Amino acid sequence: MILVDHTRCAYCGNCVSVCPVGALELAETRLVVDQTCMDCGLCISACPMGALHAEPPPESWAGGPGLPLRPRYDVIVVGAGPGGAIAAREAARQGLSVLLLEKRQEIGSPVRCAEGIAHEQLIPFIAPEPHWISATVTSAEFTVVSDDGRTETTRGEGGLGYVLERRIFDRVLAEQAASAGAEVRVKTAATALLMDHGCVRGVQIRSPFGKAEIESLVVIGADGIESRVGAWAGLNTTLPPKDTMSCAQFLLAGIDIDPTCTCYYVGMHVAPGGYAWVFPKGEGRANVGLGVQADVAGRPALDYLVRFIESQPLLARGSPVTLITGGVPVAPQLSPMVADGLMLVGDAARQVDPLTGGGIANAMAAGQLAAEVAAECIAAGDVSATALRAYEMRWQASRGHKLARRYRLKERFAPSARTSHECMRVFMVAVGGK
Ligand SMILES: Cc1cc2nc3c(=O)[nH]c(=O)nc-3n(C[C@H](O)[C@H](O)[C@H](O)COP(=O)(O)OP(=O)(O)OC[C@H]3O[C@@H](n4cnc5c(N)ncnc54)[C@H](O)[C@@H]3O)c2cc1C
Ligand code: SF4
Ligand code: SF4
Repeated sequence: MILVDHTRCAYCGNCVSVCPVGALELAETRLVVDQTCMDCGLCISACPMGALHAEPPPESWAGGPGLPLRPRYDVIVVGAGPGGAIAAREAARQGLSVLLLEKRQEIGSPVRCAEGIAHEQLIPFIAPEPHWISATVTSAEFTVVSDDGRTETTRGEGGLGYVLERRIFDRVLAEQAASAGAEVRVKTAATALLMDHGCVRGVQIRSPFGKAEIESLVVIGADGIESRVGAWAGLNTTLPPKDTMSCAQFLLAGIDIDPTCTCYYVGMHVAPGGYAWVFPKGEGRANVGLGVQADVAGRPALDYLVRFIESQPLLARGSPVTLITGGVPVAPQLSPMVADGLMLVGDAARQVDPLTGGGIANAMAAGQLAAEVAAECIAAGDVSATALRAYEMRWQASRGHKLARRYRLKERFAPSARTSHECMRVFMVAVGGK
């Protein structure tokens, strides 16, 4: 039976079209072969990625030369989300040699985000461009849904924010990193850290072109909620379920909503421990999703989402054209977030607002700070944890203290108390990006 190298497979489906017995199936992002395969080999030559084999390739098989990589860089950034791309862009602008690694084949996809960001939070990092903004929002509505179904809505006008098109936004940030001189590689995963006497000295990578070891003076782990980089360096990165929001979201099309207003719904029956959101995406579309606190929900977030949409006649008329799911770390920030030769930024360091789940701007701010400190420490010839701690201290002074305060506030209100007037006031301020 034919063998699939999932490291190389790019899920294009070409092999499925040539198989005479229908033995191949593209199950979303996984190519599956069944027992009817008769080893004719037709699919092997049809595959543009060299992902199919009649027998296991030898260990030494590298599959092609690949794009050239240096043996060492000043900085390797793992993960090309907003945190990693800004870190790579800033480090390159500081004159460092930088490699930005992304394990997915397309930066920014699949999206795991509701894509909302306040204007003031965005502009320190990039000027707004229409091609990656779906909607401009100027008002917000907050609805408390009581256990007996009664609702109370408060509307606020006058803010300015955006609902992004992150599929494009993330890629534009990576393109800016490349323009600044960083080398960017997609479908290239970091699989382990290189260590030298307890100090991080680079990463092992796996790409369609095989495995390699690349050295660096500093590694910046920007590998998101699923971060492994910190754990590889011995940091405790496990999230307790009570500090994890489990999220599901549909992009709904064919709905008639206010295109300038973001809507939030809070209630134990709507989204236990979290909230539901409706973020307009223009042209009769919206990101409609919710996050539930993993340890109190009792049912999957997707079930709550379906029930929420059914309860809203305006939304129930829409069609889901995309389903996304994901997790948000509404946890204390990691401490420490550095080790010898290593810094963590963004979701990997739990730098998310625990009240709102917003993490795009925090990730970008952390990426920028990490790059600045990396440049200073490399220039001074000291990348020990003690030297890199300057990043953590500047982070605490700029945003960290506020996030810690917000975590304490979240803890003060049990999930069932989050519809109280006091908690809603705090939530509204946090949503306003203040
Ligand atoms: C449903 C949902 C809704 C949200 N809504 C909002 C919102 O409206 N506004 C907001 O501000 N925030 C929101 N967030 C949070 C926001 O998406 C994150 O905080 C933000 O994306 C964090 O950026 P990051 O760069 O740290 O990580 P990510 O954007 O997650 O990027 C990490 C990258 O690292 C890559 N990677 C991981 N491991 C490796 C590896 N070993 N090798 C190479 N690459 C690797 C991943 O593929 C990924 O591309 C939401 C999150 C979810 C799940
Ligand atoms: S080897 Fe032939 S029969 Fe088997 S999956 Fe490929 S095309 Fe189909
Ligand atoms: S042709 Fe190759 S890359 Fe495309 S789905 Fe088949 S195995 Fe994957």
